[in-house]
Amino acid sequence: MSLIVQKFGGTSVADTEKIRAAARKAIRAQRDGHQVVMVVSAMGKNTDILLELAEQICDNPPAREMDMLLSTGEQVSVALVAMALHDLGAKAVSLTGGQIGMKTDNSYSKARIQSISTNRIEGLLNEGNIVVAAGFQGIDDDLNITTLGRGGSDTTAVALAAVLGADACEIYTDVDGVYTTDPRLLAEARRLDVISYDEMLELASLGAGVMHSRSIEFAKKFGVPIHVRSSFSDSEGTMIVAESESETQPVSGAAMTPDEARVTVLGVPDVPGKSRQIFAAIADRKIAVDMVVQNVGTKGHADVSFTVPRNELKTTIRAVESVIDAVGAEGITHDDQVSKVSVVGRNMAKQTSVASRMFRALAEAGVNIQMITTSEIKISTLVPKSEAGAALRAVHEAFALHKTPSDAQSWHQIKAERGKKADVDALVSRLRDDALESLTLTGISVTENQARVTLYGVPDRPGIAADMFETIGKAGIFVDMIVQGYDGEDGSTSVSFTVDADDLEKSLDVALKIRDKHGMRDAQGGSNIAKVTVSGIGLRSHTHVATMLFQQLSAANINVEMISTSELQVNAVIDANKAEKGIEGLRQAFADSLL
Ligand code: ADP
Ligand code: ASP
Ligand code: MG
Repeated sequence: MSLIVQKFGGTSVADTEKIRAAARKAIRAQRDGHQVVMVVSAMGKNTDILLELAEQICDNPPAREMDMLLSTGEQVSVALVAMALHDLGAKAVSLTGGQIGMKTDNSYSKARIQSISTNRIEGLLNEGNIVVAAGFQGIDDDLNITTLGRGGSDTTAVALAAVLGADACEIYTDVDGVYTTDPRLLAEARRLDVISYDEMLELASLGAGVMHSRSIEFAKKFGVPIHVRSSFSDSEGTMIVAESESETQPVSGAAMTPDEARVTVLGVPDVPGKSRQIFAAIADRKIAVDMVVQNVGTKGHADVSFTVPRNELKTTIRAVESVIDAVGAEGITHDDQVSKVSVVGRNMAKQTSVASRMFRALAEAGVNIQMITTSEIKISTLVPKSEAGAALRAVHEAFALHKTPSDAQSWHQIKAERGKKADVDALVSRLRDDALESLTLTGISVTENQARVTLYGVPDRPGIAADMFETIGKAGIFVDMIVQGYDGEDGSTSVSFTVDADDLEKSLDVALKIRDKHGMRDAQGGSNIAKVTVSGIGLRSHTHVATMLFQQLSAANINVEMISTSELQVNAVIDANKAEKGIEGLRQAFADSLL
């Protein structure tokens, strides 16, 4: 018999009428011959209301009590949904996270799933019940209640679908699918028929709140197809699967995180190991750092900038302050009025000029880019918060995301095609069952024969990045990584990029022309560098990956010149002579996580 997991988000169970409607959907699926597991979120804005209550009681509530409190929201809704099912004549049993055997680690408010015992659910299903499981919550080894993080019911649903071997995982929500960007922010956004795990993972992590990014890690590892659809209409929705909508379109979606903060640690001694100390202190608090930029040092000191979600700023500053003396840094600055605007696409690595197109679009919208980082499937920019809406609109327009690509494949076509091929390869058989959400690495590799070019004193005004990368593109130079960093001194920034070693001379010529044209301070090249890449799933949310990378490289006395992180890869640019040694250390350090 086939099994379906149906997840209902907060708006889909916001009142008793909606709860009945959700119950009817489950009953319909059961009548169609499926076993049904429902995963339910807290009603409406209940989680927010609980958070506000806690805030009224104290400034800094104990994390354990916070999870105890927040988990009650889901407990209310599962009971009501089960009652509605009974009332409609179905057999149903509601279960809390603990009762479905959802074992997690003990990091309150960000707990990671370790294992799920399926016996009880399977027994109940076999007796003809609809099982109604509470989303978002689990228990640790000492039976403390934990929660998975905001939006975590998606992860409960996909994880259950994975371990139960469900045929489908349906996510019922208040939009009728995944769009090229949040349709509430941009009316032109287009619903996608299909989006790949990789793109969805990256978009979710960069702000597309429609799916909890960790749910996509599960889906990818276990090959679970996810169907995102509306609770309130019967429209088709979006399939999240291994395949992409288009094989050619460089960008599939755009996302914004409105509430980011930039932190700069000033005057960090430019010797191996210093960045590691800073990032370890932050990672210990399970805060995901993004857009890490280390300005190539002057006078033996470097400024290290990075972004964190704004609601983590206080904790981040405390973490940095706890190590600042040991690091020997001079101080910290921050800006909490910034937003991150990103584009994501699986095909962008194969194409030139994607970055300059994005920068040109931002320049034309008058948006000043403060920081840039790129990775193989995404480009992120940090912009002033007041310009973020215009920035999102501009990039959506520049990549014509409102238009269906000419080679777009529908889910229907992909499914027909799949029938002829072997099934999509899931990684599941190689994962341990007691470490469901642990770090999964698929490879550690090195790209040799790279060179770096850095421009110093890049003026802080719109249009400079666009002009630079258009000029470089016109010279026929293929740029790989781009990193633009905030420069504490005079508001200017520095921009580094990597190219093929053979292109270094040509790139430097172009860089010097750009320097003269825009009155920049200097342009310098560095040859004999290599890029070390750690690939896997969910690398940004596993906050210790970047720390371990820094740790290993600094232990081997290797300085990291540039770094970029995404959910799929962490890249570090280092001295090529030391690459072999670096890779060796990394393979040993990550041995447990490498498939
Ligand atoms: P639920 O409570 O059902 O989990 P969420 O509020 O978490 O619902 O997620 C649905 C919301 O996600 C939509 O209302 C929409 O505003 C937002 N969203 C953000 N990015 C996207 C996107 N790319 N496609 C669709 N919705 C998006
Ligand atoms: N109720 C939780 C939240 O609001 C979990 C969820 O809805 O996914 O974040
Ligand atoms: Mg959600």
